[in-house]
Amino acid sequence: MSKELNIKLMTDWEEYNQRPFMIAGPCSAESEKQVVETAIALRETGKVDVYRAGIWKPRTRPNSFEGVGSIGLPWLKKAKQETGLPLTIEVANAKHVYEALKFGVDILWIGARTAANPFAMEEISQVLKGAEVGVLIKNPINPDLELWVGAVERIYNAGIRKIGLIHRGFSTYEKSRFRNLPQWQIPIEMKSRMPRIPMLNDPSHIGGKRSLLLEISQKAMDLNYDGLMIESHINPEVALSDAQQQVTPKQLAAILDKLILREPMTRDDKLLSTLDELRGKIDWFDDQLLEIIEQRMEVVKSIGQFKKENNMSILQNKRWEEIIYKSIEKGAQKGLSREFINKAFKAIHQESINHQTEIMNGEDKDI
Ligand code: PEP
Ligand code: MN
Repeated sequence: MSKELNIKLMTDWEEYNQRPFMIAGPCSAESEKQVVETAIALRETGKVDVYRAGIWKPRTRPNSFEGVGSIGLPWLKKAKQETGLPLTIEVANAKHVYEALKFGVDILWIGARTAANPFAMEEISQVLKGAEVGVLIKNPINPDLELWVGAVERIYNAGIRKIGLIHRGFSTYEKSRFRNLPQWQIPIEMKSRMPRIPMLNDPSHIGGKRSLLLEISQKAMDLNYDGLMIESHINPEVALSDAQQQVTPKQLAAILDKLILREPMTRDDKLLSTLDELRGKIDWFDDQLLEIIEQRMEVVKSIGQFKKENNMSILQNKRWEEIIYKSIEKGAQKGLSREFINKAFKAIHQESINHQTEIMNGEDKDI
């Protein structure tokens, strides 16, 4: 990416200079009443810059709610007339772009599944040529930085200069407390590759549940993200898609009130992005450590069950001595002190014994 590209992009986003730049609105447009009422309530919070709603929804399985389609566009137009909020919707193909531009949508966003598909990105770029519109590009569902960069390049090549990025997390097969793993190191690396393109965070799709919104948003602010995209519905309980992660406009305002906006230690972009990149790596390793310890405990529990069924005692001293001896030796080769390995492994062992004791003394589930 050339330097020139980054500078132009920054200039084109200057009209939005409050932090966090806030996009909010329902996962899906469902009815005129829901679209207009949600927009008015969000406007009243005084904290929202742009109104979002999904018109066409990419659903993993057929027969789920796939969005109302083009009939929802006049509802959005009405919401804009009533509130003055600019609009953003998701586009995934040429037809979506034509329809969105016809209805005067201000900013288009490219969803995570589309950003992962170069054919779709190329089709969208072709119809965007010459359009006066902003485009936000979500990270691809798979953790592939080059694919994300490529999606930005295609949009840039179409002549679009108001471009932003949205970090919405990455698909994973393993269970985790997140709906989509944040993998913070990827957006951080993206930011250092394209430092002047605004980076937004989408805690709704990362968390998958409303209880995680504040924690993820705070982390994004601490990493100097420019803005947030959060799903908000006038009545989340009856939402037709992503009900568990949507919040009412009032709840959204409460979350934003709790956000602590810290001043970056330095205003030097280059220093900051180096520090962020390193810290992102640390966070990533810490997450990996926790995941691995969790997976280890699952195996420990299976062994506990096995020992119980076969009437074996929990503590098998010889096995434990072997483990600690081997680990101390391996650790020493990696420059880790014997004392540290001894302490760390003893703590892990103690935790394993606690889990197994619970299994030994617990009731059998199927009795
Ligand atoms: C959405 O924002 O409603 C959406 C479908 O997002 P994503 O592409 O991140 O899954
Ligand atoms: Mn959604």
